[in-house]
Amino acid sequence: MATTYTSKVSVRCVKQHTCVACASKYSYVLVRNLQGTGSTAAAAEANAEKAALKAVQGEVDFHPCPACGVVQPDMTAVVVNKRFWIAGLVGLAGVVISFICGFGRATQIMPAAYIGAAFTLVGTLIAAWANFYAPNRDLVSNRATSEGKCQTGKLKLDERAAAQPDAMLQTPASQKRGHRIGLALCAAAVVATLAPPALQMLGGWPTNTTSYPEVVGAGDEARFYFNEDIVSINGKWKGHEIAAYVTNADKLGTAQPRLTATTKSESWGTTISGKSVSNSTNKMYLDVKFPAEPDLAGKELSLNMQVRAVYPHGVGNDAFQDESKVFKHATTVTMGPAGSGTKLYRAWWEGELMAASFLIVSLLVALKACASLRGDAVPTTVFQADDNAR
Ligand SMILES: [Zn+2]
Repeated sequence: MATTYTSKVSVRCVKQHTCVACASKYSYVLVRNLQGTGSTAAAAEANAEKAALKAVQGEVDFHPCPACGVVQPDMTAVVVNKRFWIAGLVGLAGVVISFICGFGRATQIMPAAYIGAAFTLVGTLIAAWANFYAPNRDLVSNRATSEGKCQTGKLKLDERAAAQPDAMLQTPASQKRGHRIGLALCAAAVVATLAPPALQMLGGWPTNTTSYPEVVGAGDEARFYFNEDIVSINGKWKGHEIAAYVTNADKLGTAQPRLTATTKSESWGTTISGKSVSNSTNKMYLDVKFPAEPDLAGKELSLNMQVRAVYPHGVGNDAFQDESKVFKHATTVTMGPAGSGTKLYRAWWEGELMAASFLIVSLLVALKACASLRGDAVPTTVFQADDNAR
């Protein structure tokens, strides 16, 4: 295994800001403990040096101007930047969880969509929290805080600019247009995740508790989980003699009482190898294809399903035997318009993908705006820290 070297470095320097509002100069000691990693000791050291240089040049601590109370734009940008990162990551986490739930059929489609919506909504609220951040709302209180820090020596007013009345101060903006666009894109992500419930409501599609997805239209395929579990090694099985019937076909007038259905069709030999070979419990299921008869919309189908599964069942240590068992399941499903289930499914994953793209663009735009906000500040001057002075 490759060794990773770590090199630690402590940064200690004096940062002097020139206030954008009153032109006073004030400073503090910036301290950072950083580290660099690399495949060689020299590379780790070089990376640590790079991180140190970056901190000295680019990083700032949060201190309002002790003369006028204004928070400098580069300080504001750090806070706004962090909040937009959190907003984007929370939203993207929601999309990932929604995909895991929906594609893995841990939930039906609508709950998966609501999970995506809930996370992107929280992300939007955090983006709003970033977008409406106003550190310069109370300059009097800001100034009092910084004056206190000056008294304890944490902050130093190096050069007080000629006094000017508070009303004359140009309070810098705390946000840029890009931040508002970022917030709007987060909100758009929420809307995108709500495509499935919107479609279902607009179309008045019937939903089922028995099928995955929960909306089933003529021509769609849906999965039905049996009540019975199958206990097999690594969840393997092979379905034989699969049958799925519409038992009330006569009453419904459908021409096709027998439906096409499939389940797992895995093979294994005389040995199964892997890191974790053990019995696992799963629900038996059938994926049932419904006839493309639009007249079925709104009708309730009674289904009888059956499958004989052959599966490897673990017995004792490292041993298994092939077993065979017949699984049966009866359920009902209310049909929606032709293709509605496929549309719901598509609306869900396309909506989540769209939400993810909105969130990524939102983050990029917001971060660019943060860089621009940082640029509004007067560049800081860096001095060597004189340990005795502070
Ligand atoms: Zn100032």
